[in-house]
Amino acid sequence: MEVYRRKFRITGVVQGVGFRPFVYRLALKYDLSGWVRNTSGSVEVEVEGDISSIKAFASGLQTEAPNLAQIDSLSAIEADPVGYAEFLILESKAEETAEGVIPADVATCPDCLMEIASPKDRRFEYPFTNCTNCGPRFTIIQRVPYDRPNTTMATFPMCEDCAREYQDPLNRRFHAEPTACPVCGPRVWLEIDSQRIDTDPISATAELLRKGKIVAIKGLGGFHLACDARNDEAVSELRVRKGRVAKPFALMVRDIDEAELLCELDDASKALLLSNQRPIALARKREPSRVSDLVAPGNRQLGLVIPYTPLHTLLMQQCPPAIVLTSGNLSEEPLAFTNGSARTKLSKLADAFLMNDRDIHVPCDDSVVRSLPGGDAIIARRARGCVPEAIDLPINCDCILGTGAEQKNTFCLAWGRKAVPSQHIGDLDTAETFDYYQYAIDHLQSLLGHQPKVIAHDLHPSYMSSRYAMSRPNVELIGVQHHHAHIAACLAENGRNERCIGLAMDGTGYGTDGTIWGGEILLADLASFERVGHFAQVRMPGGEAAIRDPKRMAAAYLHEAFAADNEHISECLGLSFQALEQRVIRHQLETGLNSPLTSSAGRFFDAISAAIGICAERSFEGQPAIELEMAADEHEQGSYPYSIDFNAGRLVLNAIPTFKAAVEERLAGIAPATIAAKCHNSVIEMLACACEKLREREGINLIALSGGVFQNAIIHSGLKDKLQTMGFEVLIHKKMPPNDACISLGQVAIAAAILKIKQE
Ligand code: ZN
Ligand code: ZN
Ligand code: FE
Repeated sequence: MEVYRRKFRITGVVQGVGFRPFVYRLALKYDLSGWVRNTSGSVEVEVEGDISSIKAFASGLQTEAPNLAQIDSLSAIEADPVGYAEFLILESKAEETAEGVIPADVATCPDCLMEIASPKDRRFEYPFTNCTNCGPRFTIIQRVPYDRPNTTMATFPMCEDCAREYQDPLNRRFHAEPTACPVCGPRVWLEIDSQRIDTDPISATAELLRKGKIVAIKGLGGFHLACDARNDEAVSELRVRKGRVAKPFALMVRDIDEAELLCELDDASKALLLSNQRPIALARKREPSRVSDLVAPGNRQLGLVIPYTPLHTLLMQQCPPAIVLTSGNLSEEPLAFTNGSARTKLSKLADAFLMNDRDIHVPCDDSVVRSLPGGDAIIARRARGCVPEAIDLPINCDCILGTGAEQKNTFCLAWGRKAVPSQHIGDLDTAETFDYYQYAIDHLQSLLGHQPKVIAHDLHPSYMSSRYAMSRPNVELIGVQHHHAHIAACLAENGRNERCIGLAMDGTGYGTDGTIWGGEILLADLASFERVGHFAQVRMPGGEAAIRDPKRMAAAYLHEAFAADNEHISECLGLSFQALEQRVIRHQLETGLNSPLTSSAGRFFDAISAAIGICAERSFEGQPAIELEMAADEHEQGSYPYSIDFNAGRLVLNAIPTFKAAVEERLAGIAPATIAAKCHNSVIEMLACACEKLREREGINLIALSGGVFQNAIIHSGLKDKLQTMGFEVLIHKKMPPNDACISLGQVAIAAAILKIKQE
């Protein structure tokens, strides 16, 4: 028999997913000698044996790879045989630059669930059980390569039994870096008034929750605050303590059966709830609800999540079947993730702490996804379970950092053809969040082994993310217009780089003309854009104040729609302003003082929502629009007039007639549900009509939809369906949220395209 030797290099998500034991077993199966090892960014394999076995081995690498593995590239070269005697798994090799793709955190696998449920198993009821197929990853990795000493598990030396499993290539825990057991692993305890309770802390926590207490629970990516979701008093107390008036709380439910009791779940929602990523899934609430109405007031949906760690599984077996599980933070601060910071920050919020001594190295919120009837899913927040998964870019680039937007911030690091968006960071307007932002950037850069030479940022000069970009030394800066970034993100994640009609519909973004944009139609590719249409402008009386107070936007639209009559109509609608405020707003609308013009689509929805009495007081971002969507009668087909005018070659989408008709119907006593639906329908018709005009003029048939407005399911599905019926090709976000979380991806894609043109 002639002996051949072949070297393989495999890149992708191949570490921390049981890849080396898989290679080992495959080599044994084909009777090959050689070795396998992790490097910082890939797995290297060498095998020796007869040629047909090597060929079978090579194809097995692709076809039989473990579930969690994701192979990006596999290269093979021939070499002279050196006479390996056996097949070995070698120590990892650290390299200077990593092409490393770090795995995301994975929900507990069925095998581990079985173990914690079997009294005979040595991991019976052990809350930190995991294996190569599941468990913490991103949140505990401090450095690459992904090996135990480089994680927060380094402080837990393995016991003999764990070490044996860890070293046995045929065991499910072979090189399961965070593996642990009750003998050697992390522990959980309960703290009440700095008293530590070590006996049966999970049962004690469940008991507290049953009694209506609020408990801070350390999870995978940070602390959560929990309380019994059926208990009105407990939920209301949590709202008071957190300073959160109406923003919906997410619920953890015992299992999929409990989820079905609470919500109407189609197959897609069930698949989402049970997926490895285990996001919070938004689904239609069943009425009457078994949980407190205070969980999600004014909302038809509940956000549900099924236990994703053994700790949660064990807790949910004993506590009420549905508990509120909301980020452990004060209003909009980043979530607490160290035991120390939880004690200081959450002591006034929680009656007790379910602690553990496995450190979280980098915090990560829960992801939030909403699946839609047509099969699409809208990602509202991309974090745990998804990060740090890479998104393929349609073009190549050197290392670029996109610093993101101000709200719902993420940043994004790109190199080669990969872009890695960060976890949801939050709104950068508090010092704490900004600190977390900088920490997360430093961490991801070092984890991925890439230092950016180019930084792309929003044009808004006072965004903290823009200021951060300016503060970085020795980099080339590229300013990117906000709505161009939206469209570029949608193009890039769909692998496209041709010119499209981009509809960027959101709250606000800094325009290139000093006004505030937000209802924009762009002709755009990655490198450049032209603004070819926008919503008709109205004033934002008081600037930022008009974003926080939807009544002010209603006043602005009333001013446009009813001229001198506007204050009288405002009174008839019950929009009350204090006398002084009324005078100030009048002055602002007449003179434009401190009242910038905006073409925002989001502000239009705010105005309608306030004017027809659905949401006149906003307590969280997006509330007026969300409640307007929730109120809309799904069977209503009607719509209101609008006009599309031309101004300097641009389409002006005039929704003022729409607003006027809606108000007139409200005054005539038509139900808000009907009016809400007709307003949505009108916007869909107006946008579709504008697209048709642009197709005729420009000959472009490709459409990209982005911006926070597309989190609205009526607009998302309604417009997409209509455009497709009209023969358009429609791109939507599938991997990133349509809101400002996608801005960082758009920024790196645009910078990459600009740099590529410069180089050519
Ligand atoms: Zn497992
Ligand atoms: Zn052990
Ligand atoms: Fe935006």
